[in-house]
Amino acid sequence: MKQVDGEKLLASLGEGVNQLRGRLTPDASMERVTWFQAGGLAELMFQPHDVDDLVTFLKLLPAEVPLTVVGVGSNLLVRDGGIPGVVVRLSAKGFGQVELIGENRIRAGAICPDKHIAAMAMDNGIGGFAFYYGIPGSIGGALRMNAGANGGETSQRVIEVHAVDRHGNVHVLSKEEMGYSYRHTNASKDLIFTHAVFEGYPEERAKIRAEMDAVRQHRETVQPIKEKTGGSTFKNPDGHSAWKLIDDAGCRGLMNGGAQMSSLHCNFMINIGHATGYDLEYLGEMVRQRVFEHAGIKLEWEIKRLGIFMPGREVKPFQGATSE
Ligand SMILES: Cc1cc2nc3c(=O)[nH]c(=O)nc-3n(C[C@H](O)[C@H](O)[C@H](O)COP(=O)(O)OP(=O)(O)OC[C@H]3O[C@@H](n4cnc5c(N)ncnc54)[C@H](O)[C@@H]3O)c2cc1C
Repeated sequence: MKQVDGEKLLASLGEGVNQLRGRLTPDASMERVTWFQAGGLAELMFQPHDVDDLVTFLKLLPAEVPLTVVGVGSNLLVRDGGIPGVVVRLSAKGFGQVELIGENRIRAGAICPDKHIAAMAMDNGIGGFAFYYGIPGSIGGALRMNAGANGGETSQRVIEVHAVDRHGNVHVLSKEEMGYSYRHTNASKDLIFTHAVFEGYPEERAKIRAEMDAVRQHRETVQPIKEKTGGSTFKNPDGHSAWKLIDDAGCRGLMNGGAQMSSLHCNFMINIGHATGYDLEYLGEMVRQRVFEHAGIKLEWEIKRLGIFMPGREVKPFQGATSE
């Protein structure tokens, strides 16, 4: 049974939507958006043409309608009941550009793939961006998650971030105002990042190339990058590696329905067939419970979980105790 009704929501927005240049899709499949290829529908998806279009839309959207923004879905678990309200997905045309704007400075649109920044930096002899080469997300996702790898992270390179709030007001945030910490920003949850300026440093191209090759080779060896996955499932607790805690608790390869903790990298959850959002989230909570029983540590989700459960298929925190 459908939990969301996109046609009804669209109709409720009235004639104002006719002035929009972007695309509105009722009951949009989130399976097509997320790397897990699982989960329910977005009640109404909006793909703004550009920043002005986004601002126009937000000004006409009633305050009570929930709003969610997604990037390319490489860190998302969508629940099977779908995502109520509007899901904004930035269009590549309006938000996908990456350009050099001065010595060692790069501006990138929020839906630009991280890889493109890494490539542009290498082409122009700018160091400090090779870590982006291995992260499969978009710049918007990187700004929200403080994405990082191989000793580098977004907070080290970002100078300023441009964003639009829930009411359609434009903001420019400094790196300090982003309040970054490990895989986290203090920036208001209602902000949609539209583009950002980054700064690197002069570096020899051959050295950058070698770094990028090392990043790729490392990933191909230790991560299930060809699987339907959401990247690291849990954050590393202070002083611990999440994968080690999961391994020690006997959860490497653990399965629930179509979901499995990867045998290659056991902090990566994978959809091995037709996993539902329920299968994946339940498995994650089983792992949290087992790690807690084994090591007394409560793992924190790194993957963002969105939407609502199907009735009767709710997942509770730490569900799936070994004693159940
Ligand atoms: C194989 C694999 C390897 C990975 N390796 C790494 C890694 O090494 N390091 C790492 O940090 N991550 C890694 N990830 C996770 C993921 O790629 C990053 O978190 C990435 O930054 C998410 O970007 P996204 O565009 O996919 O965002 P999504 O998954 O779509 O969204 C993630 C969060 O960002 C928010 N968001 C997205 N766009 C915007 C925007 N424009 N404005 C405001 N908020 C926004 C969403 O609301 C959500 O909360 C990996 C994932 C996979 C599948």
